[in-house]
Amino acid sequence: MENVRKVLTELMSKRKLDTKFQNLMSSVYEDADVLAFCEAHKAELSSDSVARSASKLYEYVQERDKFNRHEPTLMPGYQPVLIVNNHMIEVSYKPSKQLLADEKQREFNSRVKSVNMPKMIRRAHFEDFYPDENRQSALNAALDFVQAYETDPHHFHKALYLSGSFGVGKTYLLGAIANELASQEFVSTLVHFPSFAVEMKNAIGENNLAEKLNIIKEAPILMLDDVGADAMSSWVRDEVLGVILEYRMQNELPTFFSSNFSMDQLEKEHLKINQRGESEPLKAKRLMERIKFLATEVTMVGVNRRQS
Ligand code: ADP
Ligand code: MG
Repeated sequence: MENVRKVLTELMSKRKLDTKFQNLMSSVYEDADVLAFCEAHKAELSSDSVARSASKLYEYVQERDKFNRHEPTLMPGYQPVLIVNNHMIEVSYKPSKQLLADEKQREFNSRVKSVNMPKMIRRAHFEDFYPDENRQSALNAALDFVQAYETDPHHFHKALYLSGSFGVGKTYLLGAIANELASQEFVSTLVHFPSFAVEMKNAIGENNLAEKLNIIKEAPILMLDDVGADAMSSWVRDEVLGVILEYRMQNELPTFFSSNFSMDQLEKEHLKINQRGESEPLKAKRLMERIKFLATEVTMVGVNRRQS
């Protein structure tokens, strides 16, 4: 094809086009993108092939305009482009930048699995973790874990037991660790433990209890948030927490904890007394031994950062 503009103009006039079609096509044949495309591919195209591609060119202009105006298109999220295939013009749809970015974000989000956790963990990042002198050690311990794990994910790494009062940022820090690991394609599971315990209790007698527990128990990286926030029944302690910890210890799987209690308090005040008020020090001690195998205690002190 020699003169693109001429061919397109001739297509408009010489063919026995009815006026309706002519009106439809006039803007297409005058379209700057269409002209530029035909110009760039004129060696591969003939006037006949351009004529026979009329519907494709029309589709392209329509869809491109809708795409640019952010209106619903035939292929939502995809941007139309013209291509030459076997000397014919066709419309191809390529993923838009927005679609690719959304996909990336979805993939990233899917690496931080959360069970009854506050939404804010999605926005938690080390860069925003304001390290006053008391919380610096917690931040350092978290960074050390991430570095060690990322360097050698196949060996056991002791995780952290974050203890400290309400609002110092324990949950936030767990979220930041999970997001950092997600950026390196590692999957973490964050579980609000008291809610999970209630869910487990409600699932007693249903056949999916073991399945639900297994998902948590086998998570590659597990973070149990707010352990000790609610009174724990012996059943939850032994059949839920105990089972999770035993499995993770045997399989050397990284396991984080956060609690308003120190390890010592958790053992002596929380895990020891059963719901009938009886003392079970040996059971509490065994559980605490597993926690200590899995995690190092880091105390976070500081101001309550909660707004409300
Ligand atoms: P904890 O789990 O210790 O009770 P949170 O992690 O829930 O405390 O933190 C309390 C509040 O402070 C949350 O709303 C959280 O978003 C916010 N927060 C905590 N640490 C930071 C931080 N470094 N930067 C910004 N917000 C923070
Ligand atoms: Mg918390």
